[in-house]
Amino acid sequence: MGLSFELAPEQEEFRRVVADFADREIAPVAAEFNAQGRFPVEIVRRMGELGLFGLPFGSDYGGMDGDYLTLCLAIEEIGRVDQSLGITLEAGVGLGAAPIDEFGTEEQKQRWLPQLLRGERLGAFGLTESGGGSDAFGATRTRAVRDGDDWVIDGGKQFITNAGTELTSVVTVTAWTGEQQMTSIIVPVDTPGFSVAPPYHKVGWHASDTRELHFDGVRVPVSNTLGEQGAGFRQFLKTLDDGRIAISALAVGLIQGCIEECVRYAREREAFGRPIGSYQAIAFKIADLEVAAQTARQMYRYACWRKMEGLPYKREASIAKLYSSEAAVTAAREATQIFGGMGFTTETRVGRFYQDAKVLEIGEGTSEVQRLLISRDLGL
Ligand SMILES: Cc1cc2nc3c(=O)[nH]c(=O)nc-3n(C[C@H](O)[C@H](O)[C@H](O)COP(=O)(O)OP(=O)(O)OC[C@H]3O[C@@H](n4cnc5c(N)ncnc54)[C@H](O)[C@@H]3O)c2cc1C
Repeated sequence: MGLSFELAPEQEEFRRVVADFADREIAPVAAEFNAQGRFPVEIVRRMGELGLFGLPFGSDYGGMDGDYLTLCLAIEEIGRVDQSLGITLEAGVGLGAAPIDEFGTEEQKQRWLPQLLRGERLGAFGLTESGGGSDAFGATRTRAVRDGDDWVIDGGKQFITNAGTELTSVVTVTAWTGEQQMTSIIVPVDTPGFSVAPPYHKVGWHASDTRELHFDGVRVPVSNTLGEQGAGFRQFLKTLDDGRIAISALAVGLIQGCIEECVRYAREREAFGRPIGSYQAIAFKIADLEVAAQTARQMYRYACWRKMEGLPYKREASIAKLYSSEAAVTAAREATQIFGGMGFTTETRVGRFYQDAKVLEIGEGTSEVQRLLISRDLGL
């Protein structure tokens, strides 16, 4: 068999549809939502109508029968224009719907997936607690105690994406259900005792929803256990492996957005009587952005391909996430430099990206955690 780097015609077709949607419907309003720190409900609904939240899932529960690469292409294209909506999609699919699709019982899938896959409602996954996210196992304090046919949950989570939007219907949370036994439990957000704090004042991702969660005697039926009791640790490790590929795609979107903006600006903007792009100090920075975008894109696509082929992909997912997120931080800094003073305003896409890029090195496993995973995989 030969080696092919081409997208299948249907993948390329869908990528174009999403790119066009992002340029027409998101780009003109992204600065405004960002400035207001407002979650763009109307656009998320439109993304749902396009089928983006159902992309990698089967049609049995309302999915699009697409593949994981097509999801990543969509995340890249949305993220190229707006990182807040890119993470809303990534988390809605990867953290909200995917764990229920992958580990849930038939009844749970039928109850929750259709609304999540159509993007009418959003789901979230609460793993991180105030005691620490890198050591998510050791730092978990949330407990679920059995009382008859119910779990009674007490504790809290922090930094949970999509947990408090008006579309959110469900949060899956990890909790101790015994000695060294972690279980994921599905919590409908209207359950008494469940509450969310006001949104954080974040450095970036201003139009995405991130909340602290509180569980005060939250009572849900034991049938809300995601898959098997005690499988929580394994479930979140798998969820994070997939999420890292998708975060890499989001980072590539950011780098590509920087390239587009910088090429345009460097042709238009003049200094000392010449377009700034005619100075190699500027042109070479943009050449480096292109190198980073192409390299990072191949990395996430390779990890995706391994996942879709049923090959091990943990290491490749970490490599793609680590490289792409660090490259995105560099790209945003260099693009901002090319824009000069305008780059330091959030009216420009590169200015917003400068704020948004940093968290790519933190969420779904920090850069240090990725290096830890890669070095362990090498036997260290
Ligand atoms: C905007 C945003 C959205 C998020 N969304 C979600 C979500 O939807 N669901 C969810 O569960 N979580 C979410 N998170 C949490 C995120 O996954 C954690 O912030 C992340 O895993 C890091 O955990 P921490 O913040 O507790 O840092 P810590 O774990 O306290 O780490 C602090 C520092 O120590 C370093 N460090 C830790 N251990 C080691 C080690 N062994 N070796 C070297 N260095 C180490 C870290 O790399 C980091 O630099 C989100 C976070 C943010 C900011």
